[in-house]
Amino acid sequence: MHASGLSDAPDLNASDDRCIPGYAAIAKAVHKHGGRVFGQLSHPGKATRRIKGGMRAVTFAPSAIPDNRFHTMPREMPLDMVEELVASCGMAARRLAEAGLDGIEIVASHGMLFAAFLNANANVRTDRYGGSFENRMRFLTECLAAVRANVGDMVVGMRISADEVEADGLHKGDVLTVCKELARTNALDYINTTLGSMTGPGGSIHVVPPMGVENAYVAPQAGKIRAVTGLPVFVAGRINQPQIAEQVLRAGFADMCGMTRAMITDPDMPNKAAEKRLDDIRACIGCNQACIGHYHAGYSISCIQNPLTGREHELGELTPTTYAKTILVAGGGPAGMRAAVTAAERGHRVILCEANRQLGGQALLGQLLPDRAEFGGLVTNLEAEIGKLNIDVRRQTRVDRALVEMLAPDEIIVATGAKPYEPPVEGREDGHVVGAWSVLAGGVNLGSSVLIADWRADWIGMGLAEMLALAGHKVQLAVNAPHAGYNLQLYVRDHWMAKLDNLGITVIPHARIYGVDGTTAYLVHALSGNAVVREDVDTIVLATGHTPVTTLEKELHGLRRPVHLAGDCLTPRTVEEALYEGFLIGRSI
Ligand code: SF4
Repeated sequence: MHASGLSDAPDLNASDDRCIPGYAAIAKAVHKHGGRVFGQLSHPGKATRRIKGGMRAVTFAPSAIPDNRFHTMPREMPLDMVEELVASCGMAARRLAEAGLDGIEIVASHGMLFAAFLNANANVRTDRYGGSFENRMRFLTECLAAVRANVGDMVVGMRISADEVEADGLHKGDVLTVCKELARTNALDYINTTLGSMTGPGGSIHVVPPMGVENAYVAPQAGKIRAVTGLPVFVAGRINQPQIAEQVLRAGFADMCGMTRAMITDPDMPNKAAEKRLDDIRACIGCNQACIGHYHAGYSISCIQNPLTGREHELGELTPTTYAKTILVAGGGPAGMRAAVTAAERGHRVILCEANRQLGGQALLGQLLPDRAEFGGLVTNLEAEIGKLNIDVRRQTRVDRALVEMLAPDEIIVATGAKPYEPPVEGREDGHVVGAWSVLAGGVNLGSSVLIADWRADWIGMGLAEMLALAGHKVQLAVNAPHAGYNLQLYVRDHWMAKLDNLGITVIPHARIYGVDGTTAYLVHALSGNAVVREDVDTIVLATGHTPVTTLEKELHGLRRPVHLAGDCLTPRTVEEALYEGFLIGRSI
């Protein structure tokens, strides 16, 4: 809503009149489908890295108090700048109204500028915008008044964190007081509740709460705000299916549920819910990988389960094939399942062979970890899609060249995945060294003291550490990276970091496994090369990555039919790449 909050990130901007045609196009597109679209007015305050031209720009806040997440020391807003922001808020609202949007929402959530003015720990001003509760409310109330003056009787609401979950953030009681006051003065048509704060790592987890956080966990607090204000209340936060939203509404916690990731995963979710086709909904699993993960990495948001999202212009809608072929898919992990579904959707005859009894590949192992059960949701979603298509699924069927020649498909998709990679461990025969997959599958005895050698620095090492600590083992997580979960989306990582800390797990950064001698584990510091020695280690668990399974690919060399490779059999990565490659091949053949 004001240039002082903008950075080089591709965020929506309403700070000058040139934005109006763009917002008008959005409104038109949404209205065409019977939807309504509101514009959120926000300013990050100090809660931003604010990069401009590759450099860190000045950040502004009510007071010069440092930010604990982005490590910014903001500049205190001069009084005339505060007044300018109030006016700019009204003008931004006017632009959105002129563009034809249906409502305006002030974003006073997540510790950003509006919330910072409300917070006595973030606002220590001595002018009329700081000090007493009335003064700390002034910026918000003046902005709301400016919005109202510019948009007339248009719907105007406010988003607020019911609790910022940061020691120096707004707490439940503070938020109830703010909401009560705004209800008393009839400043709002509704309140949109969420949780958390951008200003610290603990509160940030709740900005996009990951898998492992309870579904609809903000709802009870939203219900309290609804009770004290009497206003319509929206609530968001891990509400990923219509059934869960329905429970929230029936319990009287809220009047409407916000569902962002659920809509990214399945944009048809509302229509399917309205038509009572609940089993057809592809549910978000809260992995945070391609939605907020892509956003933080500077890419368009997408979804691991819906790779078309964010690539609509590039890829276009799926089109039926003009020539139906017989497609053999070898491997029923995520890549093979997605390829089979996509090819079948286009009208091809698909045979999907999986060597094991169950479809799902490594996702089946992932779901065995604490709080990762929803990971299996992507397999459930794909199985449901397979069930609706005429796909010939053959379980316990390993594909080899003889089978290919017998089935004589027109094209073959090889999605045979990966198997564990274990580096040489000197003296391995003198110690107890086991692989992560066998531990996950429950097939090995472990000593009471376990060291996990974590090369991938992702969910496998952290998940195993939590699982084994919960089972009573003393756990050390030696990670060959600056920190555990280095390759995870940061909210997923930080949520897990807190759990590891609560369980007393020792994390050893920059450590690569080297050898073992009885109960002594030898590691090497990846930067200094110094030895890192750990005594009294009963078992070393190797979470040291994977290597592609290329047997079938090699067997098929010289076959006079097209052979495509997808997923980990190309090179082991994550489930996102597996699903994306399966999708691309399925739509290209
Ligand atoms: S990437 Fe994961 S968290 Fe994000 S929308 Fe898709 S399933 Fe949900």
